[in-house]
Amino acid sequence: MRVLVTGGAGFIGSHLCERLLKEGHEVICLDNFFTGSKSNISHLLDSHGFELIRHDITQPVLLEVDRIYNLACPASPIHYQYNPVKTIKTSVMGTINMLGLAKRVKARILQASTSEVYGDPQIHPQTEDYWGNVNTLGIRSCYDEGKRVAETLMMDYHRQNGVDIKIVRIFNTYGPRMAENDGRVVSNFILQALRGEDITVYGKGEQTRSFCFVSDLVEGLVRMMEAPDFIGPVNLGNPCETSILDFAEKIIALTGSSSRITYKPLPADDPRQRQPDITLAKKRLAWEPKVVVDEGLMKTIEYFSSVISAG
Ligand code: NAD
Ligand code: UDP
Repeated sequence: MRVLVTGGAGFIGSHLCERLLKEGHEVICLDNFFTGSKSNISHLLDSHGFELIRHDITQPVLLEVDRIYNLACPASPIHYQYNPVKTIKTSVMGTINMLGLAKRVKARILQASTSEVYGDPQIHPQTEDYWGNVNTLGIRSCYDEGKRVAETLMMDYHRQNGVDIKIVRIFNTYGPRMAENDGRVVSNFILQALRGEDITVYGKGEQTRSFCFVSDLVEGLVRMMEAPDFIGPVNLGNPCETSILDFAEKIIALTGSSSRITYKPLPADDPRQRQPDITLAKKRLAWEPKVVVDEGLMKTIEYFSSVISAG
């Protein structure tokens, strides 16, 4: 098949392109390089069947494809808050453009949604039938509300135009090729630990997250894309939940670092708890994460060590 991956030069997108090429598909990676980089996909450029297009999904594009993975959107709070208007345009206008393309060429389209659609959740762990608790006015809203509208657009194109859709709600994912400067907790803590700097815990570190290794996530995306008679939404994430303070201590232990923990103010609207209920993914996709957190973190630590040594 010919597969379009928007955001294909980003963290998750680059691993997905790699996986799809291995399966023998033709892959078109489309990216505006806002948070992605050519270095993430440089090893794929010579692969038979790989094409790279510099394009912004807020503008229409016409391509003949069978599948569209719509991943284009900055994912870390620092990056999506850098230009919030652009972030919401990417989720709204970008998703309309990709749905228009899917409708025109009769491609199946999968939307990368997020656990952020649950906001600061009052249901724990989060199940797909929970409608969420999201602030429409806050600094995270450009991302959260953009992704919620993207889900609505998917459903409306499906009901109104019969577009073949899939919605996945991705929970915190980590691994090699996370951007060094994206301010997310995994990259921040590992880099701080490796450099012997203080580890910056926001708030008291009592808030929780559940971290999924990127290879597990990509397996879930591919399974969902090909699952018969199932449009989702489906949660994809690792239910192994940890407080941010415990996570800081784990990173210090795994890196053998002498770093100390320092406390910084908690950003506005930071969700207090997050854990995916993956019962639906287990049932409909026969999917669950395989990589235990220590193993995934060691691979990520090795990656960031090599980034530091490369200067
Ligand atoms: P990322 O920032 O590494 O990748 C996003 C990619 O999209 C980048 O390559 C960026 O350059 C590109 N992009 C951004 N705006 C674009 C535009 N207007 N046109 C074309 N390309 C554009 O982030 P990621 O972690 O790989 O996330 C990929 C997707 O998964 C995103 O949609 C994100 O919202 C979703 N997601 C990620 C996580 C996570 O923990 N990583 C969690 C939930 C959802
Ligand atoms: N966080 C932290 N220190 C950092 C970066 C993040 O304590 O240096 C916290 C952040 O406040 C949040 C959690 O770690 O509670 C996860 O943050 P991240 O930005 O990785 O993802 P998200 O909040 O989008 O889940």
